Amino acid sequence: MKFNTKTIHGGQENADPAFGSVMAPIYQTSTYKQSTPGGHKGFEYSRSGNPTRTNLEKALASIENGSYGMAFGSGLAAIDAVLKLFKPGDEVISTNDLYGGSYRLFTSIFENFGIKFHLISMDEPSNIEKYINENTRLVWVESPTNPMMNIIDIKAVSDIAKKHKLLLGVDNTFATPYLQQPLDLGADIVMHSATKYLGGHSDVVMGALVVKDEKLAEKLYFIQNASGGICGPQDSYLILRGLKTLHLRMQRHCENGEAVAKFLKKHPKVGKVYWPGFEEHPNHDIAKQQMSGFGGMISFSTKENTLQSAKNIVEKLKVFTLAESLGGVESLAGHPASMTHASIPAEERQKTGVVDSLIRLSVGVEDEEDLIEDLQQALG
Ligand SMILES: *Cc1c(COP(=O)(O)O)cnc(C)c1O
Repeated sequence: MKFNTKTIHGGQENADPAFGSVMAPIYQTSTYKQSTPGGHKGFEYSRSGNPTRTNLEKALASIENGSYGMAFGSGLAAIDAVLKLFKPGDEVISTNDLYGGSYRLFTSIFENFGIKFHLISMDEPSNIEKYINENTRLVWVESPTNPMMNIIDIKAVSDIAKKHKLLLGVDNTFATPYLQQPLDLGADIVMHSATKYLGGHSDVVMGALVVKDEKLAEKLYFIQNASGGICGPQDSYLILRGLKTLHLRMQRHCENGEAVAKFLKKHPKVGKVYWPGFEEHPNHDIAKQQMSGFGGMISFSTKENTLQSAKNIVEKLKVFTLAESLGGVESLAGHPASMTHASIPAEERQKTGVVDSLIRLSVGVEDEEDLIEDLQQALG
């Protein structure tokens, strides 16, 4: 099956064995009748498994070219499950330009449990080797990064991880499997905030993991059940429904993203524009190699480069909504320094380029002309 067909049919061959309903039914139940103790039809209790969630998990595995999918109550619950593979003394190497919530989970929760994090630049993948020692267990990568849109060479990082027998996890939230398939590039774990593009309609918070290896899947499934960070059947249904149009939405996100990035680049009040589709983007060649398009996420600073100048713009936007999150059909604008990335100390933020005038856009699937007109009037 090719990708577009998979978004609709992947893993759904037997979505409703009871009545053959075309859409996966919502099994709103916590438990399942047994004919004799232990005599059940594959489901015992909905933390351990629920048929609606299983349908979604099979769909997720299919679109990421994996073998096993796991759905969680949020993207962070999914990362939390990955980190529970490790024990005190273990070390993780990750990027210094990281989603704020992942940074907070690493430094404010798991560091207290004795796991050590090295947050480094991976522009040059060989830099990773300087931080590897006998305690290193995991390399965790986001690409494109949030919000600076850096691109990390997943294949090169995977080669290093394999050489040192480390797991490689990739947060594929920004790219989605429509644009980038990390398992095919050598990653062991793909993670999603399904809240974003996979769901696509800003109406659910959910997370996902997909892996190929059976042993790793067993360990993660054990953690999913033992720690219990699962999602409910209604939400599983909504994400499954969202997935069916992922390919259609992503195509338009890419087209609109390109138009908006090019418009911003020419505007006299705009400073730097961060979008991997520009030839002068420092990692454009890698983006071209490992992604089939450049997506709808763009960050830009103002020429004035002040907090106030950014505030003036985001407050004037009318089609773009000022809100946290991304990846929905509607266009959103965010101010990372005070919103999504406020949990990262100012000094750390400035080092990676998250200046106070930085604005992040999640370009939606509206008409391109309306989006550009809106930005035009807000930039004034
Ligand atoms: C939103 C996001 C997360 C966290 O996901 P939640 O569903 O909000 O818990 C992780 N990584 C990236 C890149 C994100 O954008």
